[in-house]
Amino acid sequence: MAIIEVSNLKKSFGDLDVLRNVSFEVNKGEVVAIIGPSGSGKSTMLRSLVHLEEVNGGSIRVQNEYLVQNGNYTDSKRLKQITSRMGMVFQHFNLFPHLTVEKNLELAPRHVKGESDVNVRHKSAELLKKVGLSDKAGVHPGKLSGGQKQRVAIARALMMNPDILLFDEPTSALDPELTEEVLQVMKQIAEEHMTMVIVTHEMGFARDVADRVIFMDHGEVIESGTPEQIFDHPKVERTRAFLNRALH
Ligand code: ADP
Ligand code: MG
Repeated sequence: MAIIEVSNLKKSFGDLDVLRNVSFEVNKGEVVAIIGPSGSGKSTMLRSLVHLEEVNGGSIRVQNEYLVQNGNYTDSKRLKQITSRMGMVFQHFNLFPHLTVEKNLELAPRHVKGESDVNVRHKSAELLKKVGLSDKAGVHPGKLSGGQKQRVAIARALMMNPDILLFDEPTSALDPELTEEVLQVMKQIAEEHMTMVIVTHEMGFARDVADRVIFMDHGEVIESGTPEQIFDHPKVERTRAFLNRALH
């Protein structure tokens, strides 16, 4: 069952067409990896899903509700409701430096959702345990490694009980040895059947964890399929050329 349906999405910045009729679906519980060269529109596509970018045409449907239909956005109250079911993890963590790790986690559930202190505390402790950072609850982000910061950012996204998690190159700012600990946490979340859309350059991870891989180039979906189809038997020359560069 499709939980996200994107059809004919169009986005331009001035004269630059960044998304050209992008269409794809994500099923509930599925892990979809989006790969493609820098500048191909991956971030813009992901940001459009949570209304951080406004598109110029096409439709986005999340859990059978239109965020935007043929270029027309739903009202702002619905927009908030729909986008609040998606959590986003960015390349650069975006943690609040002046707040401790646990306060970073607890801020939005408390102030946006008005959840009780007891509930929020319980959940932050549980999620820090899940990402292996129970001992860092009272520490400020400045004291953490990049990998630890990103694991906090993942826990923070989970605090809102999202139905869908979106990741935009979550390990691109990390050294290789820190990348692994973050991928491990993401793999664990995937195994718990979270729906995940992951923009990544980690081809090994995409092959290992993704149910489906989408290759984007120049604002278009060029090819999509299982990891085996895309990595072992790409049909399109542009996919082949990209993988040759990315894997060697
Ligand atoms: P990717 O994530 O695949 O690297 P992006 O979605 O970030 O690609 O960018 C796609 C294209 O859109 C790039 O050419 C980029 O320079 C351009 N772009 C992205 N954001 C903006 C913006 N706010 N204003 C103008 N151009 C932008
Ligand atoms: Mg990007």
